[in-house]
Amino acid sequence: MATSTDKTASTVKAQLARMLAAGCSYGDARLYAENDNARLVLYDGNLESNAASFERGIGVRVLKDGAWGFAATADLDVIPGCFDRALANARAAAQLLGFPVDMGKRKPARGTYKPPVEQDPFEVPLADKLALLKGIDDNLKGESIAQRMVAATFQRRRILFWNSEGTEVERWVFNTFGSMTVMAPDKEGRTQRRSTELHGNGKGTRGWEWLADPDWFGGHADRLKDELAQILAADALPPGRRDLIILPGQGHLQVHETIGHALELDRILGYELSFAGGSHVRPEMIGKLRYGSEKLNARAGVVANSPGTFGYDDEGSPQRDYLLIDKGILVNVLSSRTDLAEANAKAGRKVVTESGTAARATAFYRTPIDRMTNINIDPGPDGTLDDIIAATRDGIIVDTPVSWSIGSNREHFHFGTEIAWEVRDGSRTKVYKNPTYQGHTLEFWNSLDKVGGESTWVLRQVPNCGKGEPNQIMELGHGVPVMRFKNVQTGEKE
Ligand SMILES: [Zn+2]
Repeated sequence: MATSTDKTASTVKAQLARMLAAGCSYGDARLYAENDNARLVLYDGNLESNAASFERGIGVRVLKDGAWGFAATADLDVIPGCFDRALANARAAAQLLGFPVDMGKRKPARGTYKPPVEQDPFEVPLADKLALLKGIDDNLKGESIAQRMVAATFQRRRILFWNSEGTEVERWVFNTFGSMTVMAPDKEGRTQRRSTELHGNGKGTRGWEWLADPDWFGGHADRLKDELAQILAADALPPGRRDLIILPGQGHLQVHETIGHALELDRILGYELSFAGGSHVRPEMIGKLRYGSEKLNARAGVVANSPGTFGYDDEGSPQRDYLLIDKGILVNVLSSRTDLAEANAKAGRKVVTESGTAARATAFYRTPIDRMTNINIDPGPDGTLDDIIAATRDGIIVDTPVSWSIGSNREHFHFGTEIAWEVRDGSRTKVYKNPTYQGHTLEFWNSLDKVGGESTWVLRQVPNCGKGEPNQIMELGHGVPVMRFKNVQTGEKE
């Protein structure tokens, strides 16, 4: 393997030099030396799916006269021809150019990134994997449970990157995802569910051992069963305006949909519109827009253990940790090198100065686009969940998405959650079923008035964020504390 990779490296470097000699201003190549995916699904204790895939190949980009050309191949013997196709594509694209791309200049990066892993999931025998999942499934069984699902997904990739500036980066991707769900019909015949996914605190290791840790996964089975039983016996949430306490199991989706996607610079520039992918943010708002209350600090974070931590992005830039929203003010966006110059030109002033290192592609045959990394909310000054409950007179606590609907510019939203708990005069009282809430993005984030401390901060994984045409399914993370919002519309208005 090392020998064939060395041969590929020297071929790629020679081709990048050839592309510069042909008048390109920049070129890069991503070799997926290996890309393994595996998924196991147990449905009512039966193995419903045992799927595995393997891919290997190379994708190359060249920039000629301000236009990108891309080509990819799984045949590593035809790399020079692949560069020729990319160059021909760039020449064709240059005839139809909206805004010429300027990558700027960057000093070369060299390095290796490998996420912390104790036990490579692909080295764990299938029988051991099934035994763990079956054990969890057994714990999900119960009199009131009609259906059960336990699933795990594993990813392992080795990616080598070179560009025409001399950057050479090797990185590994290891991802482990798990989910479990219990379902049953309520007395109106509507299916109710309670679920969780493998989560963490951003520390530790991310191999098989993470999935096997009961604190972050299997140990939640009894709680889910118990909470589903309470949901089945509960009344529906009466509509009304009240305070809304969002647990990280729901907060991560709130952040994902109304901060993360809205702050992807390619969306802001209008490049995702055909895929219902606009943003209410315009380039000139960066540095000025009040996005939320003074309590809101959102960042593109680098945490040790998350699928949104990758060392170097797919332009070879070392991943940065930076604030997106600083005490409520929008100060930065999720960007790549590719779109900075256009954003500054459209804003009429310098609103972005360096890459947000968010250029990411899902496969060797896809081009990098602006993707969420870890879009986190910093912990705040308001203590524990109990402290926040104690300070709430009339509210609900919500957890775990069950339905969501978001404006195509991310300007408003409507979420349904699996469960809600009523809070009255500082105490958690009873469970409600069918909870929903809705709001306008900026108004909602401006109503954020309590942000829990470190003890409430949880790293949730998103294995399936979809974006782009053709669609790219990307994995990422959100570290989110407990948050309280004032006077939110909850439940369905009559
Ligand atoms: Zn998404």
